[in-house]
Amino acid sequence: MIELDQVTKTYDGKNVVDSVTLSVGKGDLCVLIGPSGSGKSTTLKMINRLIPLSSGTIRIEGQDIASVRAEELRRRIGYAIQSIGLFPHWTVEQNIAVVPRLLKWSSSQVRQRVEELLDLFHLDASEFRHKYPHQLSGGQAQRVGVARALAADPEVLLMDEPFGALDPITRDSLQEEMRRVHEETGKTIVFVTHDMDEALKLASRIAIMDEGRLVQVGTPREILNTPANDFVLNFVGQSD
Ligand code: ATP
Ligand code: MG
Repeated sequence: MIELDQVTKTYDGKNVVDSVTLSVGKGDLCVLIGPSGSGKSTTLKMINRLIPLSSGTIRIEGQDIASVRAEELRRRIGYAIQSIGLFPHWTVEQNIAVVPRLLKWSSSQVRQRVEELLDLFHLDASEFRHKYPHQLSGGQAQRVGVARALAADPEVLLMDEPFGALDPITRDSLQEEMRRVHEETGKTIVFVTHDMDEALKLASRIAIMDEGRLVQVGTPREILNTPANDFVLNFVGQSD
C-alpha cells in the first residue's frame, strides 16, 4: 500500500503538487487523472523518488520512502512511461532483465522470469526474446516496457500515460491486457492518464487532480454519480 501525506512539490515558488493526501490500497488500480500540467507526473516521480518532495511524507507498506535504499526502492516500485526508453542495442530479454541483473539474479532465474513475463503479455517467448526494439510494433514495445517494469516483481507499479502514443485499436487491446494482468497479479498500480474513458475502463479508484490539488477520489461509479464540483463534472463530461 502507498500513502501520500500532505505531499507538496514547489517549483519557482509555485506548488505544482499541493498538499496531496492519498492512500492507494494493496491490489488497487488507482488512476490519477487531470488536465495537462495538473501535477500527475510530478506526483508519480516523487513516489519512486526520482524527484525529492518539498514537504510531506510518502510511505510504502508503512515505511517512509525517504528511509528506503535506492536499490531496494527500485526493486519494490516498477515504473513504465510513454516513451518506453527500451535500450536500442539490447534484445527484449536484455531489456526486461535490467533490474534483475542489477539485483544480481542468476542467469537462469533471469531467463525464467523473462519467459513468465512474455507469457503474461502474450508475447511468445521463443519468438520475441531475441528481437531488438526496432523489430517490434509500438504495442509490442509497450508491452515489453511494462514487462520490464514488472521484472523484479515489484509491490507497486507506476505507469505514466503508458499507452498515450498508440493508435486507438492497439490502445484498447493494451487496456484489456492491463486489466487482465492486474487481475492475475493483484499488483498495486498507480496509472496516470488524462483520458477519462481510459480511467473508467481500468480504475478501481479514480483520483482527480487540478492545479496540483486532489479534487476528488472515489470509485468510477462515485465519480460518475456524484461529481464533487463543476470541474469534475466537466472533466467527466468529456468522455462518451
Ligand atoms: P501532462 O498531462 O502534460 O503530462 P502533468 O499533470 O503530468 O501534465 P507535471 O509534469 O507533473 O504535469 O507538471 C506540473 C507542473 O509542474 C507544470 O506546470 C510544469 O510546468 C511544472 N514542472 C514540472 N517539472 C518542472 C521542473 N523540473 N521545473 C519547473 N517546473 C516544473
Ligand atoms: Mg505528465
